[in-house]
Amino acid sequence: MQKIRVGFGYDVHRFVKDRELWIGGILIPNDRGLDGHSDADVLIHAVCDALLGAADLRDIGFQFPDTDPEFKGIDSKVLLSRTMGLIRDKGYEFGNVDVTVCAERPKLNTYIPQMKGCLAGVIGVEPGDISIKATTSEKMGFVGREEGIAAYATVLIYSHTDNNL
Ligand SMILES: [Zn+2]
Repeated sequence: MQKIRVGFGYDVHRFVKDRELWIGGILIPNDRGLDGHSDADVLIHAVCDALLGAADLRDIGFQFPDTDPEFKGIDSKVLLSRTMGLIRDKGYEFGNVDVTVCAERPKLNTYIPQMKGCLAGVIGVEPGDISIKATTSEKMGFVGREEGIAAYATVLIYSHTDNNL
């Protein structure tokens, strides 16, 4: 019997000077980057949290603690790949993800095809299974004041059997 499950993830990181800006696995030219223990890829973190939530595997902070030096400065694509390993170990396969990333600046739309290709490669699916939407916060709140970037992700995972139950 096939089982399908949904998961939701949310993440936010603040802007700081002298950091690279990584979003959706892509290095984006910008005068500031996002602060964090890893490379602070807010989009990938939201996707990881959605995947872990869908499989009832807690969250990214539980699986990859920011107190662990192994994860300091780590490429979030590695975290995504390891998250997919946990999902597949539990008998699930990736269905699709729908992401909304909220940033006032820089504009991210032109990078979306690159992000889709990158994440599809890491997860091992087609770019059409990765939906990414970029929006602003209409100058309101912390995103609107350009203090940081937020990302939301919804995923669907499925299993072909009920072995994982
Ligand atoms: Zn994060």
